[in-house]
Amino acid sequence: MDGSTSKDPRRAIPSVDRLLASAAFQPLLATATRRRVVEALQQVQREVRRRRPPPADLADEAMYARLVRERLAAQEQSSLVPVINATGVILHTNLGRAPLAPAALAAMARVAAGYASLEYDLDAGQRGSRYLHCAGLLRQLTGAEDALVVNNNAAALVLALSALARGRGAIVSRGELVEIGDSFRIAEIVQKSGATLVEIGSTNRTHLSDYEKALGPDAAAILKVNRSNFRVTGFTAEATLGDLAELAAGRLPVIADLGSGLLVDAATLGLPHEPTPREALHVGADLVTMSGDKLLGGPQAGIILGRADLVAALRRDPLCRALRVDKLTLAALEATLRIYLDPERALKEIPTLRMIAMSADEIGQRAAVVRARLRRQGVPAELREGSSSIGGGAYPDLELATVLVALDTEPAAHVEARLRSATPPVVARILEERVCLDLRTVAPGEEDALLEAVVAAHA
Ligand SMILES: *Cc1c(COP(=O)(O)O)cnc(C)c1O
Repeated sequence: MDGSTSKDPRRAIPSVDRLLASAAFQPLLATATRRRVVEALQQVQREVRRRRPPPADLADEAMYARLVRERLAAQEQSSLVPVINATGVILHTNLGRAPLAPAALAAMARVAAGYASLEYDLDAGQRGSRYLHCAGLLRQLTGAEDALVVNNNAAALVLALSALARGRGAIVSRGELVEIGDSFRIAEIVQKSGATLVEIGSTNRTHLSDYEKALGPDAAAILKVNRSNFRVTGFTAEATLGDLAELAAGRLPVIADLGSGLLVDAATLGLPHEPTPREALHVGADLVTMSGDKLLGGPQAGIILGRADLVAALRRDPLCRALRVDKLTLAALEATLRIYLDPERALKEIPTLRMIAMSADEIGQRAAVVRARLRRQGVPAELREGSSSIGGGAYPDLELATVLVALDTEPAAHVEARLRSATPPVVARILEERVCLDLRTVAPGEEDALLEAVVAAHA
């Protein structure tokens, strides 16, 4: 230490004006506006000033130009980009859950660019209601008296509880106070809605008599949550929706949160039974809530079905305005629902259903072709038996038999990371030190891009 207070070396950072006038900056100024270059440069200067240790040559104009170029390029990058899902998790929550059917895409595109009859009654030539758009189809498909579409299922629950139980009690079994996905807890949703959570029973057993005891004058609703993302086994008991409807006998509404909106019989997909909204309404649920982008295979939405007087109360609630959906969602949902008018067509055209129904044989044939193509391009790969899953919290223990393309390239973590940085990025799993590709969730039209990414990642 010489103890000197010699002048701060950071003062060697050239001024904005000097850098802008330098030769290094001329190509940048030719492609981006001066204002963008200045803003980026000011950020770069701040960043360089904070760097420890500082760069060797603080006066290096080319360095500033390079950092500004990188910053401008980063601004051009979309953060939301399409990815190839090679994980075999069909409703991958982190990858946007359900891919849409072609008809839904087309419907969205038709209304996206211009104006649409969102809240306009074309027959009457006056204001209409956005809440009518999917209601007719939903009534037809589920037998519900009325229907309402909001932003997602969480919003559907908040709205239902807010409109029907605000300031009063909502009865929920302790065994159904679940957490779903990222910090979504039923208990917190109930509290946020302004209702008081009335917990009854125990984690593994809740009897009809527990509900009966909680039916005081303050009870405003019974909420039954489909335990979609875990199983309780062993010494268990729960009251059925039918029991609850009988107990409530119209005195207070029974709300069934189904989670997934399965509109076809689970058996046609080879899945264990899961209540459809039609069944839930049939056994006496007053309201049913479900997601649009889980097993239904549509856009993100929350669908509320049930008694007309209750749905009307929800529609009148001021919160409804805050939770409403836009024209794009309504267009995509309406087109998706229309496909269900013909269940056979739904199994063919709704990507989620098609991927669930895909047999291991069919996937194996595609996998064999992909492996052969990879080998021809010098990428060693094997076929392996494995399992895909539905994801999105639906059918947690269910394993769908699949055939994986296991890449014989090492190290797996390196290849996996390179796949993620491809354009489009490929998201894959690592199993037993091998990067594994599950073609169940890869559309046939994505296979070329997938191969290209794998060949590049292997190089
Ligand atoms: C997924 C799920 C939700 C939340 O639905 P979002 O559409 O993601 O808001 C609520 N309840 C159950 C039972 C679920 O499975």
